[in-house]
Amino acid sequence: MKEIVTRFAPSPSGYLHVGGARTALFNWLYARHNKGKFILRIEDTDKKRSTEKSINAIIEALKWLEIDYDEGPYFQSERFSLYEEYIEKLIDSGQAYYCNCSRERLDNIRQEAMKSGSKPKYDGKCRNLGLKRGENSVIRFASPLDGVTILEDAVKKNIVFQNSELDDFIIARSDKTPTYNFVVVADDITMGINAIIRGDDHVNNTPKQILLYNALGAKLPVFAHVPMVLGKDKARLSKRHGAMSVTAYRDMGYLPGAMINYLVRLGWSYGDQEFFTRDDLIEKFALKNVGRSAGVFDTDKLLALNAEHIKKMGTKRLFYYLNPFLKNKGIETEHSDFMDGVIKTLNKRSKTLTDFAEGAEFYFAKDISFEDKKAKKLLNSDAKNLFLTAIPEFEKADDFSEAGLEKVFLKIMEITGLKFGKIASSVRAALTGKSISPGIFEMIAVLGKEKTVQRLKAAVKFIEAL
Ligand code: GLU
Repeated sequence: MKEIVTRFAPSPSGYLHVGGARTALFNWLYARHNKGKFILRIEDTDKKRSTEKSINAIIEALKWLEIDYDEGPYFQSERFSLYEEYIEKLIDSGQAYYCNCSRERLDNIRQEAMKSGSKPKYDGKCRNLGLKRGENSVIRFASPLDGVTILEDAVKKNIVFQNSELDDFIIARSDKTPTYNFVVVADDITMGINAIIRGDDHVNNTPKQILLYNALGAKLPVFAHVPMVLGKDKARLSKRHGAMSVTAYRDMGYLPGAMINYLVRLGWSYGDQEFFTRDDLIEKFALKNVGRSAGVFDTDKLLALNAEHIKKMGTKRLFYYLNPFLKNKGIETEHSDFMDGVIKTLNKRSKTLTDFAEGAEFYFAKDISFEDKKAKKLLNSDAKNLFLTAIPEFEKADDFSEAGLEKVFLKIMEITGLKFGKIASSVRAALTGKSISPGIFEMIAVLGKEKTVQRLKAAVKFIEAL
């Protein structure tokens, strides 16, 4: 079989949004599953709307999602001579022609059509005039006048278009710049793209593109048009449904693996499996499992999936993703056994990396500040007496494992006559400065004897100073 070549072809007029990222992902997965090639092409022919900032944002977002490309980024703005060549070919073969109809004339045609309730369509006046280039002439494609064009879509199945409905659309404007449908086809042919997966907002462009492939004597790619992503209220996804920019989710502490897992499920399924690793997806992705109904973007589901990815990821890898969030909190650290321990106490209870870093902060603190009101309330003279009893018990203990610590606690309960819950909440407040934390034994086991004793002593001083 021929190598599969796919592409992602964003128009850089904003950040990479959820729908765009899903398109990129589907093309990438299809290429990776088939051991093919994935190309990035920036469609920046619209100079007014394309910005450098947006190009960088798109590239950065793909990098974060770990969607890597084998070729590109190519820029359409740098490929005009190629487009001219293709246009020449069409003119030479009589499949495209110069048209010098005035704006006024075209406006009249449009208005007439509107009046009679028919679809506005160029009437082909210049089609057989054999005009040369004039100052204001455009180039039109000589579209077949009858017959049908069939889009054999891998997702939507066959869609039939009447050629009589399509007009002689413009392929180059009077300033010589080629139009969207034309450059897409010229590029896709030149780049050897043989599978095009994109949003179904492009379905109506596709018959024109198919006709251009035919005119240029090129083989058609596989087309797969995926339904748009909707919000929970079934309206087309927009800002009011949550952040649209993919990197906003990075900044909120989502794992790229969770994001792609969520994105893929907006239109693709594999039985009722919800959780997929990246390797899983590459192994299982197939066009036949892309659905025909629109995916609904639900930030609660994304959050739940993120928590699951955090829980299931190995500690070393998780540290790699967590580290920037720790740095943000001023925690400079490396991967270590201690870090492993920290991660294992928090990975089951953190929904985002932001939560995670916040939850981990106390482990690294030099001194615990008792700003948390609930924690501070626990630090009273009773707690002081408890700590004075507990400190020597912790100092004496030579087994600081969870099981060992359980014994230390039993001993403290015996000496003080206090209930476990009371001891645990006071000790927790002293060690973490908070009223909630990971399980007390696992947390102290990771913290270690030295820090535990030092923090209990500091808490005693804090209480004395109150
Ligand atoms: N540049 C187009 C867009 O961003 C995509 C073109 C295509 O995929 O064919 O919508």
